[in-house]
Amino acid sequence: MLETLYSGLSDLGKVRASNEDSLGLFPDLHLFLVADGMGGHAAGEVASKMAVEMVKDFFSKDEESGNPPPPIRRLEMAIKSANHKIYETGKQNPALSGMGTTLVSVFLDQETAYIGHVGDSRAYLIRQDEINQITNDHSLVNEYLKRGMMTSEEAEHHPLKHVLSRALGTVPEVEVDLLSLPIKSGDILLLCSDGLTNTVSQKTILHTLLRSGGNVQEACKQLVHQANAHGGIDNITVVILQCINTHQKAE
Ligand code: CA
Repeated sequence: MLETLYSGLSDLGKVRASNEDSLGLFPDLHLFLVADGMGGHAAGEVASKMAVEMVKDFFSKDEESGNPPPPIRRLEMAIKSANHKIYETGKQNPALSGMGTTLVSVFLDQETAYIGHVGDSRAYLIRQDEINQITNDHSLVNEYLKRGMMTSEEAEHHPLKHVLSRALGTVPEVEVDLLSLPIKSGDILLLCSDGLTNTVSQKTILHTLLRSGGNVQEACKQLVHQANAHGGIDNITVVILQCINTHQKAE
């Protein structure tokens, strides 16, 4: 039987005046989320908070109904429903016009992690001393990269790196990338906003997580600290899930 240790941390960083990232830790629903909002004034903050709340509400209602749809469909419906609500709210409120957000979400069901995402917040899997990015950024730069119109070196330092090709809340209907991943004891899943990945290398992230020895709270603090030590130019949000089997925990 797998159990999940989890922790999350969101930080303003050292440059921004407000934190437009949001995170959601809902262990009762086996649901974990990171969103990175965008838009003028408070709009980005509203969009990322709405994304987290709406997906959670959708899962709560499904739970109450006692008859939830299959996991991947459930995640897709929840994210699409959040998209629609953010879009409508932006349309009806001039102060929030054009707001949007990324969203990366994990739903754990038995020994499978279901991952749904839109935008450039990422999910990574850390397994047996290796780290792999398991989401594809929906950014213009990544689209160019995939089409061979840019090298990864150029992409890394491109001035339009932050421009998304897909976001939640900016269009009435959104396509959601979905995947399922069998998980084993010892696996670590990291969800994060680009405030981490633009400043801290994948190698440093891996070493930090391996060094943490299952202390997920401390690992979150360390990652945020490293992003701030590299300038903290953006808001930083991390959620760490570590799967252990309960027998192992008892020892
Ligand atoms: Ca960001």
